[in-house]
Order: sequence, then C-alpha cells, then structure tokens
Amino acid sequence: MVIAIDGPGGVGKSTVSRAVADALGFAYLDTGSYYRAVTLATLEAGVAADEIPAVLEIARAADLDFIGRSMFLNGENVSDGVRTPEVTAAVSPISAIKVVRVLVVDRQREWVHRHDGRAVVEGRDIGTVVFPEAPVKVFLTADPAVRATRRSLDAEAAGMAVTEIARALERRDQIDSTRDVSPLVAADDAVGIDTTHLTVDEVVSIILSLAALAGEH
Ligand code: C5P
Repeated sequence: MVIAIDGPGGVGKSTVSRAVADALGFAYLDTGSYYRAVTLATLEAGVAADEIPAVLEIARAADLDFIGRSMFLNGENVSDGVRTPEVTAAVSPISAIKVVRVLVVDRQREWVHRHDGRAVVEGRDIGTVVFPEAPVKVFLTADPAVRATRRSLDAEAAGMAVTEIARALERRDQIDSTRDVSPLVAADDAVGIDTTHLTVDEVVSIILSLAALAGEH
C-alpha cells in the first residue's frame, strides 16, 4: 500500500511521513530530494534552469537513489548538499520542467516497486500524478506564519530570519502551484489536514487511522 502525503513546504510532511513509515514498518521516500539532487547537479555544472536541453541531459545522466533516509546522486550521499539555500532557491524552476518530471517520476515509481509497494511517499504530486491509485492520500496545510516558524527550526534554515523564510516559502509555493505540469494541488480524493493547531503525534494518528480504514494495521 502506498500512503501519499502531499503539501507545501513547512507543513511537517517529512516529520509526519517518517513517523507513519516507522509505525507501519513501511519504507519512506522523500520525492523532493530527487528534484533537489537534479538541481544540485545543474548548479555544479553551471547550467541555468532555462537551458532545457542541458538540464535534461544532466537529469538523464544522474544516478538518483534514496537509501534509508539519505539522498544519493551518482553514488554520493548528498543529503546535506541538497538542503543548501542555493538549491532551495533554484529547485522550483527545475522541477517545473516537464521532461525532468517524467524522468524523476519514473525513478520514484521504480523505487516504490523495489520496496514491494509498501511505502510512505511525500511530495507535491504523489496523490495526483505519481500514485493516483494510492488507497491513502493526505494533503497537509498550515498557516503561512506557522510554516515559516517550523521551517526556521530546521538545520537548513539556520541563520535565516523567519520573515526571509516566509518569503522563500511563498515564492516556491507560487511557482509550484501555478506550473503547467503536476502543479501542487490536492487530489480530489485526498483527505485535507490543517496542521496549524495539531501536534505531530495527532497528525500521525489521523493518518494511521486512515491506513487502518484502508486495511493496513
Ligand atoms: O519537499 P521539498 O521542499 O524538499 O521539495 C523541493 C521542491 O521540489 C519543491 O519546492 C517542488 O518544486 C519540487 N517537488 C515537486 N514534486 C514533488 C516533490 C518536490 O515538484 N513530488
């Protein structure tokens, strides 16, 4: 069973998804890290997002894998490298490129297949595009100020002012929600959870109840 957890940055997707995966003994896949890894490779090659053929070449050549809780690019653990402010600022234009998405989505589906289809998969388009048949789909939201405050506690945001984080999240939301291909939008059959006033444990237990209803114990 795939449990699809979508939503914008700072809503607590990763924390919640990992806890749900641990509780069920499922694998956990962070799909954002794939787009971040492709972005890192383009930055290292000095290629801009509007140089589509060059970006595509890089995406095609990139060996991408997610092992345990770490992202690997061409065999190297890039879990820290994909979380720098430079990658965060550059990732949305790269992930809006259709051909990049096709390549990345293929690899994510293959990853879930390799893990016997028992996975908690977090991202932006999991319930709408990557696994539209997922029996459990959740769309997490939270007030923008709460999202910025939560993100400020992450190592990647160290040293950034909360107002600066809020602006960066808003910029990414804008690009992710308005792109032509796989925009950030809740699937019609997703259960929306506003996490603004909920603890991690409360959100996790709602998702575990949904999984139990769908037949997973
Ligand atoms: O989840 P995270 O914030 O690491 O995602 C980074 C970026 O990757 C998002 O802002 C979005 O542009 C892109 N992304 C996506 N589809 C996904 C996951 C992430 O387009 N399934």
